[in-house]
Amino acid sequence: MTKLILVKYAPEIFLKGLNRGKFEKKLKDNIKSVLIGLEYEFVEDQGRWFIYSEQMERIIEKVKNVFGIMEVCIVTRVEANMEDIEKQALLDLSESSFKTFKIQTNRANKNFPLKSLEVSRKVGSYILQNNDEVTVDVHNPECIVNVEIRKMAYIYAKRIKAVGGLPYGMNGSTMLMLSGGIDSPVAGYMMARRGVELHAVYYHSHPYTSERAKDKVKQLTNILKEYTGKLTLYVVPFTEIQMQIIEKCREDELTIIMRRFMMRLACRLAEKFGINSVTTGESIGQVASQTMEGLVVSDDVADRPVFRPLVAMDKVDIMDVSRKIETYETSILPYEDCCTIFVPKHPKTKPRLVEIIKSESVLDIEALVEKAILEMEIYK
Ligand code: ATP
Ligand code: MG
Repeated sequence: MTKLILVKYAPEIFLKGLNRGKFEKKLKDNIKSVLIGLEYEFVEDQGRWFIYSEQMERIIEKVKNVFGIMEVCIVTRVEANMEDIEKQALLDLSESSFKTFKIQTNRANKNFPLKSLEVSRKVGSYILQNNDEVTVDVHNPECIVNVEIRKMAYIYAKRIKAVGGLPYGMNGSTMLMLSGGIDSPVAGYMMARRGVELHAVYYHSHPYTSERAKDKVKQLTNILKEYTGKLTLYVVPFTEIQMQIIEKCREDELTIIMRRFMMRLACRLAEKFGINSVTTGESIGQVASQTMEGLVVSDDVADRPVFRPLVAMDKVDIMDVSRKIETYETSILPYEDCCTIFVPKHPKTKPRLVEIIKSESVLDIEALVEKAILEMEIYK
């Protein structure tokens, strides 16, 4: 009898057809890379993944945050015979404080003499005979005792919900515009959870935004890195662009023109590093610049898909995710960001594309973009 961790991946991966093998391989690699430095053994039995380790708690903490994992369970492995299965199921249930239960059997090993339902029935009555404090409730049990019959048999009553999503790195890549705020780290997390590889860009307006504001973004990058493994942060100097806009453009158009520059820079970097798309933390209607018209006018300069995973989320729900992924405390540190310093009193909420193009035509857009990229800093 051995204790193991059963690792179950998201059902979506089963539906991948011919690509399923690739998703499984990526997921296995991702699990292995979060377990570097720990002692463990990875075991497979008829398509099920198990981890054996003396450091069970630490392994579970790591594995449950790997994107693509749906659930982890602590299982006991016994010989595939009814006697051992019944004893272990009784033990698992008796160790818990639950009073109603049901047995759920999955028989992958078709050579096993009893069918799933028969196994469940036999194990159930064995438990009832040996523990008079519990009763069966097939519809709404407090505890489900699972019996999986493969080459060996695996019994478990305890399941731990994991992060879900899809294996990181399986679904292309995106350049996340990462500010120091609450929203953009959440947007990045949501993309990463769907398997999209993240890269991050921060526009820094030195000396209007301090070194501390930049450190905060680095810190947020480090938190996101806990989920993604590697993560590169590009810090692009933004002051000159903002100064030029302030000097040469209409005050009520500052924000939208600035946002178009941010978009151009993100796309240019994406092009340079072979990244498929751009992601922002915008949410419709949240602030004056995040109107439908505003988003349309910023997207006009994008040469690739722009994703806004928070677009239909309420701020309170975004904050909940941000607490859950532990970026919140860092995000609320009170350092200025470049957009709060240069906010017009009455920003245009319904910018018109033709007018904006005309207004910004006084700027040497290409030169400004090129120079900013030339002077960027890279943190790996
Ligand atoms: P956040 O909480 O992510 O800062 P926000 O609600 O403050 O968002 P805005 O300031 O309008 O909204 O920014 C909208 C989006 O633009 C951000 O979510 C982020 O993706 C991007 N962004 C804004 N400022 C910067 C910056 N200095 N560097 C990189 N991206 C930025
Ligand atoms: Mg912000």
